[in-house]
Amino acid sequence: MKEVIVIGGGVGGLTAALFSKWFGLETMVFNDSEKPSQLALATEIDNFPTYEKISGSEFLDKLKKQVENHGIEIKQDNVVGIKKESDKIIVYTNKGEEECKILIISSGAEHRKGGLPGEQEFLGKGVSYCATCDGPFFKGKDVVVWGGGDTALTYATYLQNINCKVTLVHRRKEFRGSEFNQEKAKEAGAKFVLGKTLKEIKGEKFVEKVILDDGSEIKCSAVFVAIGEVPSTAVFKQVGIEMNKSGFIIIRDRTQKTNIESIYAIGDATTTPLRQAIVTCGEAAVAAQEAYKKLRLEK
Ligand code: NAP
Repeated sequence: MKEVIVIGGGVGGLTAALFSKWFGLETMVFNDSEKPSQLALATEIDNFPTYEKISGSEFLDKLKKQVENHGIEIKQDNVVGIKKESDKIIVYTNKGEEECKILIISSGAEHRKGGLPGEQEFLGKGVSYCATCDGPFFKGKDVVVWGGGDTALTYATYLQNINCKVTLVHRRKEFRGSEFNQEKAKEAGAKFVLGKTLKEIKGEKFVEKVILDDGSEIKCSAVFVAIGEVPSTAVFKQVGIEMNKSGFIIIRDRTQKTNIESIYAIGDATTTPLRQAIVTCGEAAVAAQEAYKKLRLEK
């Protein structure tokens, strides 16, 4: 039996594993290889202390190397269920099962789908949820970014900077994303259409235009959907982990406790007050310390 299992191979999960090992606990990580960490898709991290500028994927590669250098095993298995027994937690994956004394959940979140006509039909044919992955295919082309948060703004900046002609469409006149990211998108030259939203994505074989809710249309070769996140927590419902109505795991106190003993949760899958790498790292360290206290200091 492992002392600590961490679910999630993003910034939170890897940091939790690093600290858990640092506290001397036998630790392993399950990472769903088919679900990339949100941070891996970030074009640029510019608010993490000591890094002026680093891409999300480079940041995670460095962290992964650091974790592996400490001899922590990262299994690329998908967790399909968990079971809590009095003295252990069983983690079921697509390849088998493992037992542990403490579980730290850092399963993150996924892109929210807009449910628009054409959105599913043109997926991979112009519809994308990831600007760094698919943006380079649309250099020199007109593209639409949909959303008003930091993701939409950073997508707009990145796409404009690689020579796409960006129109960002957001349903309100005020942005949800930071002033800093608004300025950067503006400086890059992205055009904003505010107070309107997308109704439909249209084309023949590939995306050709979007229709807005006022009936107007914007010609484009791609639509980058960036309208928020939904937590990747469905698999934890059956064990009774308390969540809010949107499915974010409710954290009991500043020690990252869930309602179930020996199960902790951190990062974007939870009701964290700030979805930023720096906060997730702090939560990870605290959860690892709680595991240490429980396993080594309590009778
Ligand atoms: P978000 O902050 O939840 O923003 C989602 C945006 O999509 C909002 O502007 C929202 O509009 C809009 N939206 C939601 N549902 C919609 C719908 N059905 N139709 C049309 N528009 C809809 O999500 P996010 O931008 O993905 O960011 C997630 C978290 O990661 C945030 O905490 C963010 O700060 C963080 N993040 C930070 C950075 C960074 O540079 N530091 C980069 C990326 C993400 P309303 O505003 O009207 O609700």
